Amino acid sequence: MNDCIFCKIMKGEIPSEKVYEDDDVFVIRDIDPKAEKHYLMIPKRHYKTIAEMTDDDAAALIRGLRRIPGLVDRLGLSGGYRLVINQGDDAGQTVFHLHVHILGGQPLDFPDLRK
Ligand code: 5GP
Ligand code: ZN
Repeated sequence: MNDCIFCKIMKGEIPSEKVYEDDDVFVIRDIDPKAEKHYLMIPKRHYKTIAEMTDDDAAALIRGLRRIPGLVDRLGLSGGYRLVINQGDDAGQTVFHLHVHILGGQPLDFPDLRK
């Protein structure tokens, strides 16, 4: 995907602050943080949404998520964290390369989104 921001970041064509990488995923600091700590876990294989995810993609993402507990001290998330995957327009997905937001570093409000 030539025009995908996250593929370009993965290839080093766009700079980012990478805090973790393995064969399945990489983790960068979000450029526009919505919490004291805000990272993005990005699968190395490009796919847009959960609807496009293969069984291999699911296994790779779960392997990535299972690395997070080992990273919490270094990433400032030892108090807890929240994982968010925005899917589609109502969720406000802006980058169509599946990614998991990792939010923490503070107590996280859980607002009633109907208001
Ligand atoms: P979405 O809205 O698709 O769930 O999340 C996309 C996220 O990517 C946003 O939180 C946005 O701040 C982040 N983002 C967009 N462009 C860049 C970039 O070039 N570098 C980094 N580090 N984050 C980005
Ligand atoms: Zn991509």
